[in-house]
Amino acid sequence: MTSPTFLPRAGETDSDGVLTLRTLPSVDALLNLPALQEPIAVHGRALVKRAIQKALAGLRQSLAATVSADTPGTATREQLMRLIADQIALETAPSMRRVFNLTGTVIHTNLGRSPLPEAAIDALVQAARHPVTIEYDLVAGERGERDDHTEQLLCELTGAEAATVVNNNAAAVLLVLAALGAGREVPVSRGELIEIGGSFRIPDIMKMAGCQLVEIGTTNRTHLRDYENAINERTAMLTSIHTSNYQVVGFTAAPTEAELAALAKEHKLPLFVDLGSGALVGFERFGLPHESLPHESLRAGADVVSISGDKLLGGPQAGIILGRKDLINKIRKHPLKRALRCDKLIMAALEATLRLYRDHADDDRKLTQLLPLLHLLNRDTDDIHASGQRLLPAARAAFGEQASVTLHASKSQIGSGSLPIDRLPSWSLVITPIGKRSGQALAGIASALRKLPIPVIGRIHDGALWLDLRTLEDEAGFVAQLPQLALPALA
Ligand SMILES: *Cc1c(COP(=O)(O)O)cnc(C)c1O
Repeated sequence: MTSPTFLPRAGETDSDGVLTLRTLPSVDALLNLPALQEPIAVHGRALVKRAIQKALAGLRQSLAATVSADTPGTATREQLMRLIADQIALETAPSMRRVFNLTGTVIHTNLGRSPLPEAAIDALVQAARHPVTIEYDLVAGERGERDDHTEQLLCELTGAEAATVVNNNAAAVLLVLAALGAGREVPVSRGELIEIGGSFRIPDIMKMAGCQLVEIGTTNRTHLRDYENAINERTAMLTSIHTSNYQVVGFTAAPTEAELAALAKEHKLPLFVDLGSGALVGFERFGLPHESLPHESLRAGADVVSISGDKLLGGPQAGIILGRKDLINKIRKHPLKRALRCDKLIMAALEATLRLYRDHADDDRKLTQLLPLLHLLNRDTDDIHASGQRLLPAARAAFGEQASVTLHASKSQIGSGSLPIDRLPSWSLVITPIGKRSGQALAGIASALRKLPIPVIGRIHDGALWLDLRTLEDEAGFVAQLPQLALPALA
């Protein structure tokens, strides 16, 4: 932590400033200290008062603990001022902090998924600062549609007839099911009854949407005839749900989207495909494994497709629903749409992200320059290795005698249920405690890295802490804070 300006400078320390439980200053006396007037002006009196109270309480506790019959515990005035400074720093730090995500999972849901393109950040800031035409038609001078800003772009990019946007893909699935299937049956393959990120489970979402889930087939094999046998006059739609975060391998069977679409058409039912990840360009162009694209599903005959905005698309959190005009209209008119809609910040960021795809669709280099997520997924392994070699000396200096630091080949994950089993070759700094290779020493190292000004989050694996460098873009910022690493004392 950096030293706040109100701490006594060298030579200013009051040699008589020895404090005991009995001579601790009052909160009011401290609040009136000239040295605390600047923090009060900057952060507010209430915050500084709270910091003083907590610092005093902490000090009182430690003085009471060290007191013995004839030697009262003592502290210096400088120590008290430092405690207050630390407490002010704690109180002013936001709860949601910027971190270095070196976990090896590029799209990390707990760390905020995709980094946004600069163009999206600019658009978001403009929308935050000024009134914007979120639902205003400038030509007509009257009320407009929230979806107007993204629908045309989404249709151009995916070949859909119509498109609407909600808060996230979980909301998109809920809304599609509620609007097109409430009160009726929805057959889902047992191999696709997915859970994503803890509490998003298809059976629960079905219930919330008022649909009756009809489980068909088996975990590993579901045939077209299973869908066919499940169809009756109460059936609302057919579904295909992307098994984003796992794969069933081995003796498996599932009908293709085209077969499902033909069956749906035959029975005049819509086919809903929950794709999840939502890449907008073929990932094989970047040497990555193929990921299903929404326009492939639509071309195969899907009537409605849903995707996330902040997975492979590389934009803000959003749920994008694409498909037939009549169905999208029905979805848009459902009362839940109003409850699940996106705000102006997201709509601005999403529009800007989609524009990048539209304007540079055929230029891979430009796309990876402009979309940070594509850049991270596409990073050259040799570049990552070179970065690791540049970092080694500083990292070794920071860990000194306590841990060895080596550079190892590793595999990054794409993450967030995107391409679940495919891995990207990468390089990691591997930090191994020296001496007792106990879990405790390792946990201490991981914790010290999390306490840095920009906390560093790695992955514990095989008795070491792995810092995957694929996602480290701010090398200088990472190195600059390493000297502040406060490792727990060796036992
Ligand atoms: C990720 C995912 C969801 C949930 O999307 P969020 O954007 O996280 O709400 C739903 N379905 C599938 C298939 C997914 O991969």
